[in-house]
Amino acid sequence: MKVLVINSGSSSIKYKLFLMPQGEVISQGKIERIGERGSKIRDHYTGFRMILSRIEGVDLVGHRVVHGAEKFKDTVVIDAAVIRKIRQCALLAPLHNPANLAGILACKKLLPGTTQVAVFDTAFHQTLPDYAYIYGLPYEYYMRLGIRKYGFHGTSHHYVAGECARILKKSLHALKIITCHLGNGCSIAAIKEGKSVDTSMGFTPLEGLIMGTRCGDIDPALITYIMAKKKFTPLKMDELLNKASGLKGISGISNDMRVLEKKSRQGGIRAKLAIEIFVYRIKKYIGAYAAVMGGCDALVFTAGIGENQGIIRKKICLGLFSFFKKSPRVLVIPTNEELMIARQAHRLVRAA
Ligand code: ADP
Repeated sequence: MKVLVINSGSSSIKYKLFLMPQGEVISQGKIERIGERGSKIRDHYTGFRMILSRIEGVDLVGHRVVHGAEKFKDTVVIDAAVIRKIRQCALLAPLHNPANLAGILACKKLLPGTTQVAVFDTAFHQTLPDYAYIYGLPYEYYMRLGIRKYGFHGTSHHYVAGECARILKKSLHALKIITCHLGNGCSIAAIKEGKSVDTSMGFTPLEGLIMGTRCGDIDPALITYIMAKKKFTPLKMDELLNKASGLKGISGISNDMRVLEKKSRQGGIRAKLAIEIFVYRIKKYIGAYAAVMGGCDALVFTAGIGENQGIIRKKICLGLFSFFKKSPRVLVIPTNEELMIARQAHRLVRAA
């Protein structure tokens, strides 16, 4: 069966065509500059037409959708009701869900008889217990506005946890795993007996670890303090926290860990500090997640930094395991969100 996996963003569509169940990639590519000035690709519909002119024989389509809120706890076949709900979830992900939806609608028009499936970034974390996802705010903010921790990168955490169990030749249900997705966006998850029980990103991807340009955890009172001091609008404040903070903000040089590592080796004080803060925060989360799970059998590193930067992994692990009765296994596992989407879509239609 040929499964087309689609990651539809606001101005780009990435695609990968898999032969399933083998998981073999038949074709892949990216359409860029959708809707931009001077671009020939007016909209997602035109973008999709280009993709479909490059491939043939699609049996099933799997779409990455960023936010499923509490409406989607698992992968689903897309129908009119699902489209309506994804649209409702756009309130929580105004930059991402509409772009994902544009891909789904274009695909629906161009491949009318083909089953489409949605795989949500948030779904894997829907198993978090309420005491992990409710914030210390008045409860009605959760009830009325849906304000709670959702978590992201779920497909990646789920995939590497499954691969970890396979490599260790153990059942996922018998393991306590901490997965560290360290890319430009960074998040960490505590996975107990195959279920996500806590994760560092929150209502939005801003919470948790220090990232390329995002600040991660800060004192929430800083937001109103900075807004008042600098006379920032909410939009400007949002930009500061999401785009000008993290590794880039601390170092004043770059959000790219490779650049910072090099600079730090050459004696760059702020590059070194940015790395130290990055590592320290991850260490704290690993300790916390081992505590909430009552141990940790395996620590998994994935994504750009996690997969490629051994020095960062070494710094994170340095002195970390002395308080464990038995040291966890440390694994580096390349993430493969597209394959996970193809597998989930394939499994869902086969089960139907
Ligand atoms: P994204 O979250 O945008 O998918 P990536 O997973 O590609 O990000 O990770 C980007 C980060 O990984 C950057 O900080 C970069 O410096 C770091 N990195 C280190 N080595 C590599 C590599 N070989 N390829 C890509 N990114 C790398």
